[in-house]
Amino acid sequence: MLPKRPPRDQRVGFIYAPPYRIQGISIGGEQTVVQVPELGLNFDIGLAPRMAITAPFVALSHGHMDHVAALPYYFSQRMFLKMVPGTCVCHPELAGPLKNMMQGWIQVENQQTPHTITPLAPGEEIEIKPSLMLKAIEAKHTVPSLSFAVVEHRSKLKEEFAGLPQTELRRIRSEGNEITHTLKVPLVAYTGDTEMNENLVSTPFNEAGVIVTECTFFEDDHFDRARIGKHLHVEHLKELLQSWKAETVVVIHTSRRTHLESARKKMIETLGEDSERIHFLMDHHRNRIRYEQQESSLESEKEGSEAAGKG
Ligand SMILES: [Zn+2]
Ligand SMILES: [Zn+2]
Repeated sequence: MLPKRPPRDQRVGFIYAPPYRIQGISIGGEQTVVQVPELGLNFDIGLAPRMAITAPFVALSHGHMDHVAALPYYFSQRMFLKMVPGTCVCHPELAGPLKNMMQGWIQVENQQTPHTITPLAPGEEIEIKPSLMLKAIEAKHTVPSLSFAVVEHRSKLKEEFAGLPQTELRRIRSEGNEITHTLKVPLVAYTGDTEMNENLVSTPFNEAGVIVTECTFFEDDHFDRARIGKHLHVEHLKELLQSWKAETVVVIHTSRRTHLESARKKMIETLGEDSERIHFLMDHHRNRIRYEQQESSLESEKEGSEAAGKG
């Protein structure tokens, strides 16, 4: 008898939440990387499939190996592919150790790998694209940990000036008056590894259009394990979904042992109708069907508008 072939490599999960693609691989305790190409951003980098190399930013939630292991490889591949050096945004307590790690690699490889490590304290922001700010939010895990939100800063005309002609607006501005204010629109938020906490039910999480959330445990008798490891349990999602406006909530960090169909059943039991907003990143089968439906509804929309154009 022939020996068994090795198991197939982990496939990249994919969910289209217009206008964003949420793609990556995430298994609790093993590896997590979640990319939003439209934002040029990876959340965590526990492994580096090819697509992850292309994002110029990594928002690192915390230092557990399953979230950070591929960081040096990411920096190195970007150099190899002649891309601008990657930037890793991390908790201030991690910046020193990560810089030391990269120093270590110089000795291992006998070459320098260009990289940028940027500490971001809870509450601070960094611009990742014009008008798009990556905001660090304090999370509560067994080590210093961050959640993140990408917030668009839109410049809006102040209400009192609405409807005024351009010449008038120019005059008001030339007199030194500020005619605009900044509207902050949370686009995508990422919990990282965390237990339930206040920040998850406050702005910007409440307002974000898409949320990527960990949910490590689903079984009733795993509630204590979630508490000890400082993770979220499906029971917590109930409260979170009540405060989140997000139409699409992507669940990651389920354990390898989690059987997705039974997790889904448990979720529907716990969350009722709200469970329709939830998608498991690693449920390739359902995500493919959903994408095909998105494709065909786009097709019929196109046909509809073409027909209207002819008429
Ligand atoms: Zn983890
Ligand atoms: Zn962790």
